[in-house]
Amino acid sequence: MPSVSAPIPGVDALVTADPGVWLAIYAADCVPVLVLDTATPAIAAVHAGWRGAAAGVVPAALDRMRTAFGTAAAQCRVVLGPAIGGCCYEVDAPVARAMEGAAWWPEAARPTGPGRWHLDLRTAVRRQLVDLGVPADHVSIVPHCTACRADLFFSYRRDGVTGRMGACIGLRR
Ligand SMILES: [Zn+2]
Repeated sequence: MPSVSAPIPGVDALVTADPGVWLAIYAADCVPVLVLDTATPAIAAVHAGWRGAAAGVVPAALDRMRTAFGTAAAQCRVVLGPAIGGCCYEVDAPVARAMEGAAWWPEAARPTGPGRWHLDLRTAVRRQLVDLGVPADHVSIVPHCTACRADLFFSYRRDGVTGRMGACIGLRR
């Protein structure tokens, strides 16, 4: 009988190399990141919002996979799921200050006015992955913006009180 664990609070990344263990994360605008190390094999599920992008939660997850399982970035395939796009995600100066020194900032952020930027989180995460050695053609991006597509997705930015989308990944036994 399969068992389902209770949600693990205060955690933005899960990794495993155990077949039959499925990892799930919930998001509504933040980037759901699913990682498959095809060689080991091993997997990760990561929730990356602006705090996670600033803190490097995705690089931290790959680093944990490397130390725990011997994962090499070059053998990883990654999917970035639906998230708020640069079209809709405006950030202010306090948020920008946490990130503007990052290598990916010029590529992911577009100034739109004094103290205002539009930020594309998936561009930021993709840049982090490529900088770690994940081949660019191993990173697949679901292009939809959660805030634009009210017909398809929950969006915290758009609706405030809202549901969450789940993303999950597992290794078959
Ligand atoms: Zn949008």
